Amino acid sequence: MTEDESFEGGCFCGHVRYRLQGRPIFVQCCHCRDCQRQSGGAFVINGMMEAERVETLSGEAVGVSMPTDSGRPHDIHRCPHCQTAVWSDYGRRGWLRFIRMLTLDRAHEFPPQAHIFTRTKVPWVALPADQPAFEIYYDPKVLWPEQARTRWQEALTKSGAAR
Ligand SMILES: [Zn+2]
Ligand SMILES: [Zn+2]
Repeated sequence: MTEDESFEGGCFCGHVRYRLQGRPIFVQCCHCRDCQRQSGGAFVINGMMEAERVETLSGEAVGVSMPTDSGRPHDIHRCPHCQTAVWSDYGRRGWLRFIRMLTLDRAHEFPPQAHIFTRTKVPWVALPADQPAFEIYYDPKVLWPEQARTRWQEALTKSGAAR
């Protein structure tokens, strides 16, 4: 990752615009039923990003609380006008955002580094052989590059949420 790289994105109508400082910590493609139903698509591609590295350029996405089976909060932040989902906050952590990667202007430059919840993947989507896929989830300690784990840990510590 080059620290000075930045990537802009936004909602469909252009009201909400944001800029990522650097590449996401990790990009994953989720095939779970929640993602499918909430997006109306076959999957959602999320990039985990420290909240402080996400700069709002214009507009303000509004959080919409999703009911979850676990009871753990999941807020999807959407443009108040066109309702495009631009990022999610799983667990109301605040310090971490799950950027909807396809809202980036250069969306096609971020292939998923893992596929999760493939047990509910639609059967007609074939996954590339070089992208690791998991029936449910994976162990980040095993899968993530060291740099990703370091960034996560640093952001967690800085947030004061570390146990
Ligand atoms: Zn919009
Ligand atoms: Zn999902």
